[in-house]
Amino acid sequence: MVDRNSTNPEPGPVIGRLAPSPTGSLHLGHAHAFVLAWWQARSRGGLVRLRMEDLDAGRANQQHVDQSLRDLEWLGLDWDGPMLRQSERLEPIREVAYSLHRSGLAYACCCSRSDVRQALAAPHAGEDEPVYPGTCRGRFADLRQAERQCGAPVGLRFAVDSREFRFHDSIHGECRHRLDANPGDFLILRRDRTPAYQLSVVVDDAFQGVTDVVRGADLLDSTARQIALLRALNLPEPSYHHVPLIVDTEGRRLAKRDNSRSLTALRDAGIDPRQVISWVARNCGLQVPSRVGANEVVSSFTLANVTPSPIECRIDDWYR
Ligand SMILES: [Zn+2]
Repeated sequence: MVDRNSTNPEPGPVIGRLAPSPTGSLHLGHAHAFVLAWWQARSRGGLVRLRMEDLDAGRANQQHVDQSLRDLEWLGLDWDGPMLRQSERLEPIREVAYSLHRSGLAYACCCSRSDVRQALAAPHAGEDEPVYPGTCRGRFADLRQAERQCGAPVGLRFAVDSREFRFHDSIHGECRHRLDANPGDFLILRRDRTPAYQLSVVVDDAFQGVTDVVRGADLLDSTARQIALLRALNLPEPSYHHVPLIVDTEGRRLAKRDNSRSLTALRDAGIDPRQVISWVARNCGLQVPSRVGANEVVSSFTLANVTPSPIECRIDDWYR
């Protein structure tokens, strides 16, 4: 792993983060990533920040916020300072989006998802989002003209170029990504003026002073977008650690709709949270008893033995 502080004689503290999105029950995949994030910070004497990524107004609700907090506490994870709720930071994050527009790095866009799909002759199969064809790039002189011409509120899209992004991930090694190939110019502000995920993450990571991002490998694909935004905003780049995904016996990623492995279901079934912690520790090659507290693992923790391969979730023996 590259020591990003190697030229700095007095490196600042490690600041990690737990950033659940309260849109459903947390499951063992989330637990795995959160416990690793917590150990990564605590084992280096660092701080842990908590952030609720609750910008999805349709799905995020207070019940899920409370449930996420209960799940983290059940696992024995704590955090420093107050919880940050992204829904309370809409204005400052929006302002960053408009600043990127003012500096010519983002442009107004009135395309809906179906507009984007229709503009493509052959959408790429299997991708979450089709590559944006650039319909609105250079189309409007300013926001007012865009809104007048579209007859509706417009979103903002970050303009990407054909540069290759290279970044280091402590688990995946050197990664390369061309944003023009995937996903093209991407939304930073939605047409309903809600900041988009990628922008919110980088603005709030910087706001919370996060130095180390530990999260699931499904977000590896987002990293180049986030680095592009960090560089455009002249914000520091954190170290990245994308931990393996947890998959079921058929190799499918655990999903929030799959309640059997939700932490609430495990708790209700009388599973000891120390079994969950032991499972996470053993997944990283650590030798621990079958029940262990999160605190007890801190001193022996290292990400060094973690490999990128997905981990199959075998927990049947917990119920015996
Ligand atoms: Zn557009």
